[in-house]
Amino acid sequence: ALSIRGLTKSFGDNHVLRGVDLDIPAGQKVAFIGRSGSGKTTLLRLVMTLERPDAGVIEVGGVPLGVRRTDNGYVPDSRRHIAEVRRNIGMVFQQFNLFPHKTVVQNVMEAPVKVLKQPKDEARAAAVALLEKVGLGHKVDEHPSRLSGGQQQRVAIARALAMRPQVMLFDEVTSALDPEMVGEVLNVIRDIATETSMTMLLVTHEMRFARDVANRVIYMEDGVVAEDSPPEVIFENPTNPHTRNFLRAVL
Ligand code: ATP
Repeated sequence: ALSIRGLTKSFGDNHVLRGVDLDIPAGQKVAFIGRSGSGKTTLLRLVMTLERPDAGVIEVGGVPLGVRRTDNGYVPDSRRHIAEVRRNIGMVFQQFNLFPHKTVVQNVMEAPVKVLKQPKDEARAAAVALLEKVGLGHKVDEHPSRLSGGQQQRVAIARALAMRPQVMLFDEVTSALDPEMVGEVLNVIRDIATETSMTMLLVTHEMRFARDVANRVIYMEDGVVAEDSPPEVIFENPTNPHTRNFLRAVL
């Protein structure tokens, strides 16, 4: 579903990604681990088209980002193309970024109504079902400020799911949460991972979670993929000694 070739990205002198190559088949659940600054978040932001690469190609479903398909082949990027890509990719951020003046259910139905032009009653019913799924059926008409951080993050997850994306990106979704709320959010993501065929990319500092949810774990170091292994290998007998050092430090 996702193919990445020779991806590089710098911010000034900071060479954050130095040539990333990855193929991620549809349905795979991939966890990205590694030290702070190793480029994990930047990689997700590039896939989401929130940043542009300096070099390299990202293809989603065989279509390269940064170009769009026309009758005459591929032509350079356009806003419309980016909108189409984003429609197929959902992202949940560290900060929940909910619309504060809208209720919980309005937050979740906003994009399906505005972007997918779903009829309001249909979108609302789907939104309520998703909110029930993330354990917030009793909060649909509240405003986000009345919810805990963990509840707000679960709304953000429901909001991303409402667009029925092919690919979901989770960027350190528990980092901004109080410790007692981490579990409820991770459990929701774990359920989604088991129940759906969506491709999922997760950047996480929670190694237990990476191990439970992912069927593939990528250790990033200095802007490249330093190890790419199944969870049982990476956590028990990593191929790269650097992975071992990292895990020893964080576990
Ligand atoms: P973390 O776990 O801390 O999020 P990470 O592996 O996700 O780390 P990135 O967030 O991708 O790493 O950041 C890699 C480096 O790029 C960092 O040094 C960061 O300061 C820098 N960086 C990221 N975005 C920008 C930006 N928009 N402008 C300048 N520097 C940036």
